[in-house]
Amino acid sequence: MTSKLFPYSPAPESRAVVNIASSYGLFIGGEFVEPDDGETFKTINPASEEVLAEISEAGPRDIDRAVAAARKAFDGVWGSTPGKERAKYLFRIARIIQERSRELAVLESLDNGKPIKESRDVDLPLVAAHFFYYAGWADKLEHAGFGANPKPIGVAAQVIPWNFPLMMLAWKIAPALACGNTVVLKPAETTPLTALVFAEICQQAGLPAGVVNIVTGAGDTGKMLIGHDGIDKVAFTGSTEVGRAIAKTLAGTRKRLSLELGGKAANIVFDDAPIDEAVEGIVGGIFFNQGHVCCAGSRLLVQESVADEVLDRLRRRMSTLRLGDPLDKNTDVGAINSFEQLARIRELSDIGEAEGAQRWSPACELPERGFWFPPTLFTGVTQAHRIAREEIFGPVLSVLTFRTPDEAIEKANNTPYGLSAGVWTDKGSRILWMADRLRAGVVWANTFNKFDPASPFGGYKESGFGREGGRHGLEAYLAKGK
Ligand code: NDP
Repeated sequence: MTSKLFPYSPAPESRAVVNIASSYGLFIGGEFVEPDDGETFKTINPASEEVLAEISEAGPRDIDRAVAAARKAFDGVWGSTPGKERAKYLFRIARIIQERSRELAVLESLDNGKPIKESRDVDLPLVAAHFFYYAGWADKLEHAGFGANPKPIGVAAQVIPWNFPLMMLAWKIAPALACGNTVVLKPAETTPLTALVFAEICQQAGLPAGVVNIVTGAGDTGKMLIGHDGIDKVAFTGSTEVGRAIAKTLAGTRKRLSLELGGKAANIVFDDAPIDEAVEGIVGGIFFNQGHVCCAGSRLLVQESVADEVLDRLRRRMSTLRLGDPLDKNTDVGAINSFEQLARIRELSDIGEAEGAQRWSPACELPERGFWFPPTLFTGVTQAHRIAREEIFGPVLSVLTFRTPDEAIEKANNTPYGLSAGVWTDKGSRILWMADRLRAGVVWANTFNKFDPASPFGGYKESGFGREGGRHGLEAYLAKGK
């Protein structure tokens, strides 16, 4: 951002590796098909507002077709394919993802707005790792701790958000397939492209027709899918509001449900923490992926005695962040995914100021076209402020202070959410003491936003239920065997 410090030359990743078709059909029964009523919508590059492709919008008859294809594949092939055979397909998919990872990373950055260094170095390696990891489980399910002879559930409807499009797809599809289920997945309206290339990868891997079906569309398509009578399980990642509506729809039905919802994580810095490392963790915790991260460390709780020092160093570090072209390898902060999301970030930030918190951003030129928001810090935040309570889902950090560990716990847990938390301290005993008391599904110690397919992820309270990743992630896709 302060290019005076280090004037970097542009280092754009080439787009030539990506071949975007002008329009895409729905992926049903192993092939791309036209939507029944011919409705389409456009997906754009949020960094430039350029139209990338025309996308099909699945209607009720398309959902019928997709669910029927998934059922046929479950009954006819996949549900009875031995685990060691299913594993081969998953390994094959993982290898193809690795082979095509540059293409997928560029496409993800184009459609989502995230910096290429994140899609290339974080998202794609984790996507492939997820398929490798669950490939390893496919023939060992009876040893996973869910009964002697666990069975697949059947047809899973999976609905995912736009913040990590391919990674969320991997978190959903890899364990479902490993356990012998078939899936109908709906990607988010604003980021369908990598899911459609994933459909091509399923073809390339020779996956039997109908095991994976991709239906594109907006919220209504998701609603039709999760409400369809022919599905056995719903896996949803997205906002708490929509999650709540889905839980109501499914209540009283035989369908199984897992929900990964929002968060408002506390990143807690004690006075004995290594400050420079903590500042890196704070920056990574909230500005990674423009803060479009459910487990983002969006509330910084810093011990009062070191607050000034931490904030000085944090402001200095924020002044070196580079905002701009997501395809530039030097970019730290990319584009906001959509105009709607930008409007929400602006609204909540304005409310923060109106409620009396002090707003600060480094000097920063925003590109003229596209959707952009500078990395932003709010100090003087109290627990009653909306920016301390609501998920902003953008590059906005709310700073609160504390004096004692008890006060830190009290404040950290004072949220309807419970997805993640971070603790920065030199003392191992304090880490354990804190981890025991924090009501969060994941607690990071002296690091933040670190993921591994072997590690379960999920929430407490309004952050949802069920776990994704690790052995625990299998449970959502298994029925007890007899
Ligand atoms: P939404 O809940 O609006 O959307 C999530 C998905 O659900 C999208 O595919 C969306 O379609 C679809 N959808 C929307 N309405 C319905 C409905 N009534 N029935 C079924 N499906 C529907 O969330 P966002 O996409 O705005 O994502 C941001 C939110 O997701 C944040 O709150 C964030 O915390 C949370 N999230 C949680 C994660 C976790 O693991 N806990 C991970 C990532 C995000 P469309 O996009 O077309 O509207």
